[in-house]
Amino acid sequence: MLTLRTVLEAVEPVSRYTVRTPLVPATSLADTGRQVRLKLETTQAIGAFKIRGAVNALSKLTGEQRARGVVCVSTGNHGRALASAAAQMGSRATVCMSSLVPRNKLEAIAALGADVRIHGKSQDEAQALVEELVDKQGMTEIPPFDHPDVLSGQGTIGLEICQDWPAVDTLIVPLSGGGLISGVALAAKAINPDIRVIAVSPRRGAAMAASLRAGRPTEVEELPTLADSLGGGIGLNNRYTLEHVSALVDEVVLLSERQIADAMRYLYFNEGLVTEGAGAVGAAVLIEQDIRERLADTLGKRIAIVVSGRNIDMQDFTQIVNKSHPVYSRNGEDGHA
Ligand SMILES: *Cc1c(COP(=O)(O)O)cnc(C)c1O
Repeated sequence: MLTLRTVLEAVEPVSRYTVRTPLVPATSLADTGRQVRLKLETTQAIGAFKIRGAVNALSKLTGEQRARGVVCVSTGNHGRALASAAAQMGSRATVCMSSLVPRNKLEAIAALGADVRIHGKSQDEAQALVEELVDKQGMTEIPPFDHPDVLSGQGTIGLEICQDWPAVDTLIVPLSGGGLISGVALAAKAINPDIRVIAVSPRRGAAMAASLRAGRPTEVEELPTLADSLGGGIGLNNRYTLEHVSALVDEVVLLSERQIADAMRYLYFNEGLVTEGAGAVGAAVLIEQDIRERLADTLGKRIAIVVSGRNIDMQDFTQIVNKSHPVYSRNGEDGHA
């Protein structure tokens, strides 16, 4: 179970193996009566917060489990995090991927010391290999979000924000599977129940938002999005995060692709930050006037935004900054064909 205590217990392993990230003022987003600070998970060595959950989950394993290794399916930040955590903590990560994964992503994870295994042509087929490695070789699967030790690790972000800024009244957090926001919101509201928590997802493939509306885990069509780290479902067998998100999150905001791109450009030009799409979404709540006005009753005067990651292809990033990216040229609904 995820509780304030499990988050407090995660502090020791997380602080040993990860960066205690800075909470910096964002003067461009402030105005009279409103202060804004950014929690820069972009400064983690792997470029995203997911190292926290991975480290905490690994710290709970026995020596024998670590020796047998950990395994996951992930082409993105969770794969990087598990590879890095295993390399630092005397274990070995196996990251399973489908043959459709681009070579640069595969190489980034292999470079962190993970054993990369290509299996099948889809995420589901790669997942079948995970299950085989768990059954036949006794590896331990560490999932990207729906696991109490992962949630507790991500929750250390909420603790740090409240420690560094006791007067904070609003948290804005990216949302996909809900591991990040579950941990952050639980820790923050346990410390101060008046804190409001706002979730932000891309409109394309917003599986958690659909699941909240339906009151049960719901699949939505998976579509490409600039916030690629926020893609994917919540799992039809979701055990933890749907319940936490539904209990702890005050508002869910959905963004168009153009709004995501604009937030990335804004943070670059005004705050000097390189962010991936998922890392920038929180800022859109304050940048976009209509969202800001719609949430006027929820937004407080001391707002912390979790800037969750910076792992983006620099070719794509510079195209967004220069407005030469397709999201700025198509008239289509969301800038994707
Ligand atoms: C995974 C991820 C998220 C979303 O986290 P969830 O726990 O799936 O909600 C946000 N930002 C980045 C950069 C991520 O890698």
